[in-house]
Amino acid sequence: DKLIVTIDGPAGSGKSTIAKLLAEKLDARFLDTGAMYRAVTFAAMRKNVDLHDEQAILSMIAATEFDFERTDGPMTVRIDGEDVNSDIRTSHVTSHVKYIANSPAVRSELVRMQREYAQKAQRIVTEGRDQGTVVFPDADYKFFLTADARERARRRLKDLEAAGETVDLDKLQQQIETRDAEDENRKVGALKCAYDAMKIDSTKLDIEGVVAAILDHIR
Ligand code: C5P
Repeated sequence: DKLIVTIDGPAGSGKSTIAKLLAEKLDARFLDTGAMYRAVTFAAMRKNVDLHDEQAILSMIAATEFDFERTDGPMTVRIDGEDVNSDIRTSHVTSHVKYIANSPAVRSELVRMQREYAQKAQRIVTEGRDQGTVVFPDADYKFFLTADARERARRRLKDLEAAGETVDLDKLQQQIETRDAEDENRKVGALKCAYDAMKIDSTKLDIEGVVAAILDHIR
């Protein structure tokens, strides 16, 4: 049976980890839409395309092969066949994603790709900022994950340290709050809880707790 579950929320709210686990439990495909915005940003920077030039970005997207595949492990992102999974998660890429995320033309191309992915997969758990509001307004189940900025910064710190970056927690929290503001104030695809989404605050919940709450609601 067809199934669309959306999980939206701010940076570091645990969306990816939770969406991934949920997809396994529901026998569905997992789509990390943040990875798509990151991949486009990374590809543009590597190919020296001006991040402010919407037309140039669109042409670059058309001329590039993007693969967002999930086989057994986590989602694998490839650009022209090359695995760029860790390259797209650096803070350098993170700080430049806004130029891509703020472009209405680029967003609508990525929204088209996301819907195409869902069409192919049939069953999908998708996470991002606008999945329940813009991309899949008719989704079967919608969730909105939140958590205190401090806690989200702690989680990001762990990720970045695992990737070999050294970062300061206060600075990270500041960056997260700046990104929240950018995400919330975007003219198109702004971060927002859909009116029909279930809101879950994960500040004091562990991953299993959130997954259990979601499964409880679905079943
Ligand atoms: O979730 P993640 O931090 O990987 O997302 C990277 C960036 O992509 C975010 O800062 C956000 O601005 C943008 N994004 C977006 N729309 C989505 C998913 C992510 O604008 N659906």
